[in-house]
Amino acid sequence: MDNVRRQILTAAIDKYGSACQMVKAIEELAELIQAIAKDVDPDNIAEEMADVRIMLDQLEIIFVNSEAVRRWELKKLKRLDTRVHAADTVR
Ligand SMILES: [Mg+2]
Repeated sequence: MDNVRRQILTAAIDKYGSACQMVKAIEELAELIQAIAKDVDPDNIAEEMADVRIMLDQLEIIFVNSEAVRRWELKKLKRLDTRVHAADTVR
């Protein structure tokens, strides 16, 4: 994440505390679940996705695990790529 983004999110963690922001992350995840499940307002879904992305970045700062997250993400993308192409060859 870029420096400005990290500065803003770190300031939020410093102001409200890690524990509070972890609870906030749970709340935002729940809001996105509800937005997707209701499936009525595309702009609401976009708003909740933005909230979750912001909270995921804060969690990376709190847990100091950006590298591990990127590593898992790459591993899972590769696995998904393999599965997608395997499905193509079955047909
Ligand atoms: Mg929200």
